[in-house]
Amino acid sequence: MGKRYLFVRRRRARNVLATVLAAAASGLVLGMLLRWKQPAAEVVPLATSQQRQPKSVDSDSGEDKTALVPLNEGLTQVISQLKQEVKAELTGFLPPKFQGVTLKEVKLPSKEKVIALTFDDGPWPGSTEKILKILKKNNIKATFFMVGEPLKEYPQIAQLVAADGHAIGNHTWHHWYHRMSEATAAREINDTEALIYKITGVKSSIFRPPGGMLNNGLVAYAKKQKYFVAMWSADSIDYRRPSVPTLVNKVLKESQPGGMVLLHDGGGDRSNTVQALPQIIDKLQNRGYKFVTIPELLEMQNKELQLAAAKSAGSNNSAGKISP
Ligand SMILES: [Zn+2]
Repeated sequence: MGKRYLFVRRRRARNVLATVLAAAASGLVLGMLLRWKQPAAEVVPLATSQQRQPKSVDSDSGEDKTALVPLNEGLTQVISQLKQEVKAELTGFLPPKFQGVTLKEVKLPSKEKVIALTFDDGPWPGSTEKILKILKKNNIKATFFMVGEPLKEYPQIAQLVAADGHAIGNHTWHHWYHRMSEATAAREINDTEALIYKITGVKSSIFRPPGGMLNNGLVAYAKKQKYFVAMWSADSIDYRRPSVPTLVNKVLKESQPGGMVLLHDGGGDRSNTVQALPQIIDKLQNRGYKFVTIPELLEMQNKELQLAAAKSAGSNNSAGKISP
């Protein structure tokens, strides 16, 4: 995400101009800006979407008022930039130290008991909604690694995931394991990235290779694009459809602070995962774990390390001083 990160930094400078211009524009424009600041209103209208925003229609004339106000091209461009900037601010960016890095877990210097639940291969009808319900009931945010094909098929389910505030990762378009050319890997990742953005408004900066394959060309391309490559430290093996107790025990056995737990909401019948999830949550909570998303986990480590570095710089400085 390096290029994108810098791009947004540059945009931030231009944002001052954009804000001034936008502020000088009509009340309608300001109204629109306010709407953009709300992620829930940022849903891309889809034929099947339940979340389509009602149009501003004049009740007397029945006309669409928004269509009556002409906007010059320059202003439209500025607004479009600002809109993207707001989206970027909402989704957050990867700390540079994690760009192009692959990790199975994110160790925190504080050893705080946090863990990230991750769900791959969705969105998937039935199971994703059930998982969202369980997570909401427990007030937990997780990370969903979405695949392009089902995402195209079930955009409204992906919008539910985003609306609930979960993090979204890129899990390629076709979920292929085989070795591929850079051009194919680029399509697999870029097409999925574009669709995630179009449907949810999220600029994802985290990638997980299908099957954990590290050498088929996908991870090489993802790293080049500065994605954080998220593997896992606890494997539920739910893709093998073990019994619910086996699945729960496997996760508990492999859970550790800063860990990432591999689960699946899509790719097949995930009723065992759905059934096991409340127990996994309960048991981990009983062991003192709090649940975070992968971006939160990265941000936590980044902050802790920055704080430690600042403290050590502070103590070095004071060590050099002569005591009175
Ligand atoms: Zn997968």
